[in-house]
Amino acid sequence: MDLGYAGRVAVVTGGTSGIGLATAKLLLAEGARVAICGRDAGRLEAASALLGSERLLAMRCDVLDAAQVAAFAQAVAEWGGGSLDLLVNNAGQGRVSTFGNTSDADWRQELDLKFFSQILPIRAFKPLLDKAAAPAIVAVNSLLALQPEPHMVCTSAARAGVQSLMKSLATEFAPRIRVNSILLGLVDSGQWQRRFAARADQSQTREQWYSALANEKKIPLARLGEPEEPARAILFLGSPAASYITGASLEVSGGVSRHI
Ligand code: NDP
Repeated sequence: MDLGYAGRVAVVTGGTSGIGLATAKLLLAEGARVAICGRDAGRLEAASALLGSERLLAMRCDVLDAAQVAAFAQAVAEWGGGSLDLLVNNAGQGRVSTFGNTSDADWRQELDLKFFSQILPIRAFKPLLDKAAAPAIVAVNSLLALQPEPHMVCTSAARAGVQSLMKSLATEFAPRIRVNSILLGLVDSGQWQRRFAARADQSQTREQWYSALANEKKIPLARLGEPEEPARAILFLGSPAASYITGASLEVSGGVSRHI
């Protein structure tokens, strides 16, 4: 299926690692022009080298800093010809904590991250999306939005709020901009690689650690997802192939959700 990305302009926040990097790679392979951002200069440089495309713009930008996001949007406007076809709000990370050990400051930080990593890029890029023929926003969210976990209490609550926000925006921005999200289970990316590196039993091999994790989480497909797997779902939802889909969420979880 031709997803129709040739010549289109896409932004992927947090495009220097994991799912964002895989999404940027697939978009470039489909012929899109892609702008990525991240906070760490070294990771940006490594991602640019790996992606190695003249259709890539890589810029340092913390999505929680309104001035930096505005500067990123300005750079994309100049580089991309003044319009934007796809915004993928992917930047972020989860927080492992229970109600008992989450401080007020932790709550505020997590709610800030989850909401403003959506709000600031959407506000800054909306004028460019408004100028595209068939624009779309895809939010990278988590199954925790529907299936909260007590050991990730504030991330789960914030994720549910983000789903609500996306549903509201799908209506407010209709019929011009489609707004959808993907709901992830466990995907083998930067954050899991960091947790593997910090594993309690350092004698466990990578295979043993990941297989025990998939078993513990009761993932029907018996493994973690690879970053390219959610990336393919993002490309579909963001493309004209999904032209009648808005306000929807697509689970990419290896079947781990328990609801129907
Ligand atoms: P990675 O850690 O591999 O990648 C995260 C990316 O986001 C990096 O490029 C990072 O770059 C960037 N980033 C983080 N914070 C900011 C910020 N404030 N401003 C700009 N860029 C930022 O993680 P994943 O690929 O796993 O995560 C992608 C998204 O998927 C995240 O939102 C995550 O919460 C979500 N998710 C992932 C799951 C999983 O199992 N992997 C499960 C559920 C949700 P830098 O640090 O240099 O800024």
